[in-house]
This record gives sequence, C-alpha cells and structure tokens, in this order.
Amino acid sequence: MYSLDRDPLLLTPGPLTTSLRTKQAMLHDWGSWDSAFNRITAEVCSQLVDIVHGSETHVCVPLQGSGTFSVEATLGTLVPRHGKVLVPNNGAYCARILKILTYLGRESVELPFAEDQPADPAAIETALMADPGITHVAQVHCETGTGILNPLAEIAAAVARQGRGLIIDAMSSFAAIEIDVRTTPFDALIAASGKCLEGVPGLGFVIIRRTQLEASAGNCHSLSMDLHDQWAYMQKTSQWRFTPPTHVVAALHEALAQYREEGGLSARGDRYMANCVALVEGMRELGLKSFLLPALQAPIIVTFHAPAHPAYNFNTFYQGVRERGFILYPGKLTQVETFRVGCIGALTPQDIAKVVDAVGATLRDMGVAVMV
Ligand SMILES: *Cc1c(COP(=O)(O)O)cnc(C)c1O
Repeated sequence: MYSLDRDPLLLTPGPLTTSLRTKQAMLHDWGSWDSAFNRITAEVCSQLVDIVHGSETHVCVPLQGSGTFSVEATLGTLVPRHGKVLVPNNGAYCARILKILTYLGRESVELPFAEDQPADPAAIETALMADPGITHVAQVHCETGTGILNPLAEIAAAVARQGRGLIIDAMSSFAAIEIDVRTTPFDALIAASGKCLEGVPGLGFVIIRRTQLEASAGNCHSLSMDLHDQWAYMQKTSQWRFTPPTHVVAALHEALAQYREEGGLSARGDRYMANCVALVEGMRELGLKSFLLPALQAPIIVTFHAPAHPAYNFNTFYQGVRERGFILYPGKLTQVETFRVGCIGALTPQDIAKVVDAVGATLRDMGVAVMV
C-alpha cells in the first residue's frame, strides 16, 4: 500500500474536508475583546441571515459547541416551560430532538414515519388540529441519518396555517438547499460552521425571528444555553458572552468568502448534486444500491446497503478505503446493514470518482463479489 502525503478526504457529514484557505485562516490569534475580531463575528452573523433572506425579520445568534448544543439551546430558549413540541420522526436526528426535550422537561409528541419515508405535511397539520396544546413543531430538514429530504416548504405552510412556531434543524442542508424565510416561515433555524458552509466544526448558530427571541427572556433552564442572554449581551457589547471559538469564527468568515466566490447557494447545491450523482452512479456500477428512492435523496449524504456477501465486514471495508485515502461513515439504521458516504465538503465529482475506485478495489481485495 502506498502512503499518502495528504490527509484522507472526509466523505462524512461533518467534520468535512476544508480548503487550504479555510485552514490558513486559523493561523492567527485573536483577542475576544478586540474590535477586529468582533467585526468578524458581526460580518459572519449578517451574512448567515442573508442566506435565508431574513435581514428584515430575523437575527443570528452564534453559540459555542457542536450543532447539537445549538439545537438544545434553541429548544430550551424558545419553548416555554409549559410548551409542547410536535416532532415528526423519520430518523436519528429527529430522535435526538425528542431526547433533548425529555432532558429539558419540555412536553413532546412524536409523529413517527418510516426511515425511508419523508415527513407528511398533511399528517403534521392533522396532528396540530387535534391538539391545540402543541406550541411548536421541531422539524429536521435533511435527516442526515439516512440522507432523506423532508418537504420543508409544505410543512412550514401547514405550521403557519395552524398558528404554531416552527423550529428547523437545517444543520446538514443550510447554505446548499434553498430555504427562504419570506416563503418558508420559521421561528428558528439551526445550523453549524462545519457542514455545508465548509468551515471547521466548533460553533452552531441559530437564525431566530427577532420578536420570538425578544419574548423568550427567562425561558431557558441553563445559563450557557440561553440564546436570549447570548444575544442580549452581544447586542450590548458586540462581544461573545463567554470565550469565543476565535479560530473557528475566523475560518467560517473565510469559508463564507469562498462560498460567495463559488456562486453562493445555487453553485454550492449544484456541486453537491454533481457529487451525489457521480457517487450513486459509480456505486451502482459496482453493484452497490442506495437505500432511498432517488426522488427522496438529498444531495448531502447517501446511505448504501452493505454488500450481501459473507466476506463483507464494515471495519475491514472502512480500513481498506481509508488506506486508499478516503474516510467513510458507518450506517445509522437499526434494521438493515448500511454505510454512508457524504457528498459535502471541499470535494468535486473528480474526487468522488476516486472514492468509487477505492471502494471497488477494497471490495475486490476483500473477496466480495462485485456484480454489475
Ligand atoms: C450534524 C447534525 C447535527 C449536529 O450534530 P453535532 O454532532 O452535534 O454537530 C444535528 N442535526 C443534523 C440533521 C445534523 O446533520
């Protein structure tokens, strides 16, 4: 086996492969009190709000930590202690929201769907009509557990018709799949630095309807998770409340510059779509089938059925592909054996073709029959 002179490429849903420019942006030390750093934070926040066309109505609150920290902070801040949250559940990240609500002591109602089926806007609306006590719907946009895309615009319309609040976990879709708050109304949308914006991991951010955020003072059970307090402090001082992840913010600022240079959301979405098509077609030629119907597949991450062959073993497969320079992701389904391959990050269809070659060569080495 040859040895690589570069890091393996990450075919995962985050952290993901970043550009050299983004990595180089971290070669400085920033003072959290310094106006140069605070300017970077302010620019990042206003650019993030612009991605959903929300500058008239919404503000951005960044939070230290991985994406889940921001999901938890949003639920804790926006849902009153006697609120009740409907959670359409078709995968692992929906289930995580239910778990968070249990921890927070907020009442929840699960609306279950099969993992290979999108959440149904009509069923959501029926559930809201049946229970006027439900204050919010917490919806995952792209369910990264499988890669399925939920019909967000229709769900947002149903939630708005019923006069409830919508909280969107758009962690793996924000900045690659269009969400326009003027036509897809929401109270809060959560995403993070290390996903489709191609920054490094370490901060989440929440785009929140200003009036809802203002009304949420005192809801939160936790000081460090209180987005109202984080925002109020930032408004007053233009600084972060507690030690900011300075290098992560600087890297995100540089990643956003490259995002604009690439052509913004539509160009980013097109590149991921080209990656996804190259991946699914290349794997199909190797005899590997994707789990979802193509119409339900988001161009973010693809779940593949593991080869039904006695010589197949995920860990051996993973190591073989890794030695060839690529890092895959395990499956997250309980019923069927799968593995996942991400389409996002600083990758092109040319990179994906090499991934497919590495998968084919590894399976051949393992003696797993590859059929056409
Ligand atoms: C990545 C992701 C998260 C956050 O996961 P962390 O590991 O906390 O960063 C939440 N929801 C979805 C849909 C995701 O893809």
